[in-house]
Amino acid sequence: MTAALPLRVYVMEVGPLAENAYIVEHVESRKAAVVDPGDEGEEILSRIAERGITLDKILLTHGHFDHVGAVRTLRERTGAQIHVHAEEVERMRTAGRQGGMFGLSVENPPAPDVLVREGDVVELGDQRFRVLHTPGHTPGHVAFLTGEMAFVGDLIFAGSIGRTDLPGGSFEDLIRAVREKIFTLPDRTVLFPGHGPATTVGEEKRSNPFFTGGL
Ligand SMILES: [Zn+2]
Ligand SMILES: [Zn+2]
Repeated sequence: MTAALPLRVYVMEVGPLAENAYIVEHVESRKAAVVDPGDEGEEILSRIAERGITLDKILLTHGHFDHVGAVRTLRERTGAQIHVHAEEVERMRTAGRQGGMFGLSVENPPAPDVLVREGDVVELGDQRFRVLHTPGHTPGHVAFLTGEMAFVGDLIFAGSIGRTDLPGGSFEDLIRAVREKIFTLPDRTVLFPGHGPATTVGEEKRSNPFFTGGL
């Protein structure tokens, strides 16, 4: 007997900074969560409609404009609840201003519905996402872990790490968060980052130059 996977993941690269918005479909309940809808809200909504699924939750790893630019559209059109860490709320409020510094027009997201912190569990159908507080790129940055998949935002990328030179950033915090929260997961855990291709815990432990002493 082969067990069907309970969750399916679709990635959409959105906006001028090529941010990965992830649609996570719970196959049985036909409910979906979107992780970091950074831009192109209408395209995300049509993709969800095509699948015949219902958007239930919006999960935000952090408040940078390239990760939250489509939150208002999704929230207003579906009522899906916005989940974010308390330390990112102020950053979310300034999304429009952040985008302005790049010469972009970005809609400020509405206030979040649910504030999450380390150890919290967010449910999608009968599946659970565990919240990992992973500061360093921003102070309230979180990752969402479900089964053998982790949505890691701008914490770690394939072969690289998130910037730590932006306001509230800390290189030491980021390195510690990866070592303590991510590298303690099984090697086969798939990491879905905010930019670029997916990778695994084992691959990054072996080859990420920020952790192998190669830099
Ligand atoms: Zn960011
Ligand atoms: Zn980003």
